[in-house]
Amino acid sequence: MTRYGYRAFADRTRHVPVHIHLSEQPAENDACLAVHGRTPARLLADSGFWGRNTTAVHATHLTGEDIALLGGAGSTVCMCPTTERDLADGIGPAPQLRRAGCPLSLGSDSHAVIDLFEEARAMELNERLRSRVRGHWTAAQLLRAASEDGHASLGWPEAGRLEAGGFADFSTIALDSVRTAGPPPRLAAEAAVFAATGADVRHTVVAGRQIVRDGRHQLIEDVPRALAEAIAATRG
Ligand SMILES: [Zn+2]
Repeated sequence: MTRYGYRAFADRTRHVPVHIHLSEQPAENDACLAVHGRTPARLLADSGFWGRNTTAVHATHLTGEDIALLGGAGSTVCMCPTTERDLADGIGPAPQLRRAGCPLSLGSDSHAVIDLFEEARAMELNERLRSRVRGHWTAAQLLRAASEDGHASLGWPEAGRLEAGGFADFSTIALDSVRTAGPPPRLAAEAAVFAATGADVRHTVVAGRQIVRDGRHQLIEDVPRALAEAIAATRG
């Protein structure tokens, strides 16, 4: 897109969320530098792109200036740790982005694993491996990235938490499964983030409507079969 094109795009979309996959792999940075003489984050900044309604997905290979640009704009960064490890892309600078001012959300950009619990704990566990230090995020912070900040990134700041006037969008997690049983109630958040999987979701409510009840989808009879058919359809 031309410089004008980016600006017009940003103006048009100022009040709607805009997500862009950014610097996932070094090759795309190299190509951008070769053509534009700037990193992708810098190129977008020069076009007036970044703002609080924008989300950078991946943001794995950033310069210090890139991090400052995203943080200064208050852009959200959507980390996709299971995708980065599946593709051998590397570990994004999540702690530095948080310190720069970026809210962090979580996403799945591949179909190898789709499980927000795994994405949430991977952000902490990746940093443990890199730094050999524990405690980069609390369970509460990781749950917030998986819920409230994720909703805000999608343009629904009134969702992701339970309060009067907010959207009734939430899931409940079984704390009596083979993965989660045992910890006292005060450690429920830790059990959810560091032990649960999507299989432990017991109820899911979307906009006040119960979609999953006692682990069973209320709208789709056979979810695995429906998934298989949907994937088969993409193959033609
Ligand atoms: Zn992507």
